[in-house]
Amino acid sequence: MGKTLFDSPSFVNHEGVHAVFDEKTGLRAIIAVHSTARGPAVGGTRMWNYASSAEALEDVLRLSRGMSYKNAVADLEMGGGKSVIIGDSRTQKTPELFRAFGRAVDTLGGIYYAAEDVGVSVADIAEARKVTPYVLGLNDGPEASGDPSPVTAEGVFRSTLTVARRLWKQDDLTGLTVALQGIGHVGGYLADKLHAAGARLVMTDVNTALLSEVAARTNAEIVAPDAIYDVKADIYAPCALGATLNPETLDRITAKAVVGAANNQLATPDIGQRLFERGVLYAPDYVVNGGGIINVASELLARQTGGAYDPQWVEGKLSRLMETLEEILERSATEKRPTHEIADAIAEARINAARDQKAEQRKAA
Ligand code: NAD
Repeated sequence: MGKTLFDSPSFVNHEGVHAVFDEKTGLRAIIAVHSTARGPAVGGTRMWNYASSAEALEDVLRLSRGMSYKNAVADLEMGGGKSVIIGDSRTQKTPELFRAFGRAVDTLGGIYYAAEDVGVSVADIAEARKVTPYVLGLNDGPEASGDPSPVTAEGVFRSTLTVARRLWKQDDLTGLTVALQGIGHVGGYLADKLHAAGARLVMTDVNTALLSEVAARTNAEIVAPDAIYDVKADIYAPCALGATLNPETLDRITAKAVVGAANNQLATPDIGQRLFERGVLYAPDYVVNGGGIINVASELLARQTGGAYDPQWVEGKLSRLMETLEEILERSATEKRPTHEIADAIAEARINAARDQKAEQRKAA
């Protein structure tokens, strides 16, 4: 028996949780708005064959809160939200389903913007766009931000350089070995950048055709998917799945740093503590991979101002995010606390400041 909404440990001051059902299309979705303190809640839509609606609820509560933190740490004027559609994305997708979902998003009047995520494509979001303006990550029009992966990869790359400067006092990656797990949209761009900066690459992926191609152009060594944890590397770069830092892998990973694009790398927060105690520098996932959401934020800004997607604005925000990463690493060292805790503290301070400011404005009005 699943927990009810307010009893769930994943329910943390969410402003609103909206269950959606459409009889005609069979749409069953949950839209969670964690916070609008810093602006409209923005976060992707995931389509997944959840075993139960309780599991879907847990996921959307956890992910929407994570978006508040990611958006705040990237200093975006956006809050955090997320939505899940319960169903099999390979067999149950229809244009009508996404229009029904779009209508549900529309009823929220702009407090939540949807975008693509696992199981949902840009084409699906474009279908929702026919019935609501409150979606982002489109391919057409002057404001469209397109594929976020190159910007995400650039953020991961710069984070890797930041870590190399701190740990090895060097400005490039010469002589360092990176164990790269996943060479998909982000990992592929990242492999090229790491190679160009002098890193030696050891890589894996379950897509063997793609793996041979990327390995050939970056002079990389290939290992089997499970062997990536045992590679003698300086840096482990998870760019495939979440929760790869877990009790099973912890003793196998000998890298001095973890810097990768994957979301939710720590299986549980105590893994972050254990990495810290072992002297492994964990660059917090949602800071390292914030380039993607910064790219999407430019589309929202363009929509709000009637302007166009602005790569210079994106560059400014990405540079600022990298300064925040430096601050996190510095504070972790001086305060002797794990990096993920410092990142959370910075995000929470920014969210709380915005919330308090709004409350003051309401009082004054
Ligand atoms: P992707 O699906 O294009 O790439 C993932 C790659 O991982 C694929 O090539 C897949 O074959 C491989 N893979 C799957 N299971 C694997 C396994 N067990 N071992 C090794 N490889 C495996 O996804 P992406 O867009 O490159 O995103 C990668 C990660 O970064 C994801 O966790 C995603 O949530 C996160 N992320 C992506 C972006 C973005 O802009 N695309 C932004 C933020 C976070």
